[in-house]
Amino acid sequence: NKIPEITNEPMKSYAPGSPERAALKAAIDDIQKNLPFEVPCIINGKPVKTGKLAKQTLPHDHATTLCTYHEADEATVAAAIDGALAAKSEWESMPWADRAAIFLKAAELVAGKYRYKIMAATMIGQGKNAWQAEIDSAAELADFLRFGVKFVSELYAVQPARNSPGAWNRTEYRPLEGFVLAVSPFNFTAIGGNLTAAPAMLGNVVVWKPSPAATYANYVCHQIFTEAGVPPGVIQFTPGPPPEVVAQCINHKLFAALHFTGSTHVFRKLWKDIAANVDVYRSYPRIVGETGGKNFHLVHKSAEIKNAVLQTIRGAFEYSGQKCSALSRAYISKSVWEGGFKDLLLSEVAKIKTGNQLEWETFVGPVINRVAFDKITGYIKKAKDAGGEILAGGSGDDSKGFFVQPTVILSKDPKSVTIVEEIFGPVLTLYVFDDADYEKIIDTIDETSEYGLTGSIFSSDRKALIFADNKLRNAAGNVYYNEKCTGAVVGQQPFGGARGSGTNDKAGSMSIFYRFVSARSIKENF
Ligand code: GLU
Repeated sequence: NKIPEITNEPMKSYAPGSPERAALKAAIDDIQKNLPFEVPCIINGKPVKTGKLAKQTLPHDHATTLCTYHEADEATVAAAIDGALAAKSEWESMPWADRAAIFLKAAELVAGKYRYKIMAATMIGQGKNAWQAEIDSAAELADFLRFGVKFVSELYAVQPARNSPGAWNRTEYRPLEGFVLAVSPFNFTAIGGNLTAAPAMLGNVVVWKPSPAATYANYVCHQIFTEAGVPPGVIQFTPGPPPEVVAQCINHKLFAALHFTGSTHVFRKLWKDIAANVDVYRSYPRIVGETGGKNFHLVHKSAEIKNAVLQTIRGAFEYSGQKCSALSRAYISKSVWEGGFKDLLLSEVAKIKTGNQLEWETFVGPVINRVAFDKITGYIKKAKDAGGEILAGGSGDDSKGFFVQPTVILSKDPKSVTIVEEIFGPVLTLYVFDDADYEKIIDTIDETSEYGLTGSIFSSDRKALIFADNKLRNAAGNVYYNEKCTGAVVGQQPFGGARGSGTNDKAGSMSIFYRFVSARSIKENF
């Protein structure tokens, strides 16, 4: 079966007066008029209302509730696991062409019928502006689904190269025995879709615990999967208190894999818990995780200044810096800094509109919640206390929503606290180095890279660029030359990093799919 040609979902412009702007506005109004919604667990295709209620409130208006959701309790999680295991044999024996059709249809629903609904849910619930929501919940989600079908088709086509006379060898890519636990973050609706759909495409069954702060958009995503034809039980939706839901899953004998995106701290804890349970499991679980980042820009003296500045602003402040890939430290050659970088950076940052992301001109919306707000503003204070100079921003306002101004800190210490620790907010720390110290600063970047997710090098001198890249090979899994360190595109830049940033199994590529199969080699003699 040949699959249709796969291309990345094109972005729309949302220009004033455009039909897509009007359609998105209508979807936003519709949610605002009808909230709060009630979100149940979905077990075996049926809503389950546990009565244990929690709320997802709006980051830009924390007094307003987007949805009240039923937290999965012990009995519900047990039913989710049992139901998933019961659904497995029919699902895994369904012909691939039929499973593929379901996910291709889901992609069409995301990009078409439900595009504005899932974007509006992401904008309102997770604080993204229209273009940020489009990149995530329309384009990237559709891309994950379509390219996933392509990668799985390619994986299934792999056969051993040699057969001896009279024998026929083949390899079958079985799904894992047991169930997959997907634990997804708030910052990308698409990631929740991918953490579940990628293993499910291969015939696995999945218990999905979305981030409490993204419950509603992920619920919409689950509804799309159901409408596309994902059978009952294959992806169980169990929002709930993270530690309990997760513990119950990873204590189960048939826990087969963790597909995780979230904080490094939580991932390490889960890894240890899984290790402590190793005698319980039928098979060694697969542990696939994408976690934190402390991503860098390195600006060489030969860099093109305007490009470096604009890419730096987008890398650091798009989606309020709440991307694992977001730029949070930049090392800039002194001649570039003094030769225009500083002035242009500060004049451009001063023009940024921070505030309600539902207003079309807003570039920096809120951060996700109180915990994030306190952590980010706490880091700004630490930077000040340590002698950092605040060049822009530096404060927040949590009276109505969780707003933090885009903040630029100049540090005199290349290892200061805000230049080495992950903040996950709109805070950029800069260090200016003498042009002659290029090599030395590269060593400092590598040394301070506890994480290893993304990084960018700006230079019009290719030798300087390659020199840095070679030395920083282990400091970033996604490297960009003369471009910001965010915005990996599915199928184009497989995404993930090593060190503290995760298992680097590369979302948006073929590699990740190998983690959710357990191959079987078959030799048949005639
Ligand atoms: N893939 C996204 C990017 O390249 C980041 C995803 C994340 O924050 O986990 O910007």
